[in-house]
Amino acid sequence: MHVSKSVVKSVLSTFQESILTLDKEQSMRRALETLSNEFGRGVHRPVCVKCNLEMRPERNGVGLLVMASFGPYRLYDSDKHKCPECGVEIVAGLGANAISEHFKENFERLVQSYRDEAEVVCVKEGV
Ligand SMILES: [Zn+2]
Repeated sequence: MHVSKSVVKSVLSTFQESILTLDKEQSMRRALETLSNEFGRGVHRPVCVKCNLEMRPERNGVGLLVMASFGPYRLYDSDKHKCPECGVEIVAGLGANAISEHFKENFERLVQSYRDEAEVVCVKEGV
């Protein structure tokens, strides 16, 4: 399971706040509540803006392959979600770190294993 960037940011800013205000006990408690809420309920699903509906998980363990100008660059593990109404699909739930990069020995093997076991979605870098 991945913890979303916004959760990490929220927890970090709460810790930062606790240092600034020196109100450590209360702020730490709030940070822990944020974390336990996220793990307890699960991270919110993406929402389709057009249909005002939560998207449904369509497939876990989808490889997200970042493409640079020279070709495949980084591989992330992600989840595919689909809107139950209009059918639009997105990938989300990326971990903070790539699971492999183009210069690593296991890169091509991992990309292939995502192709074999689930699917690979390519995304152009920095567009
Ligand atoms: Zn929709």
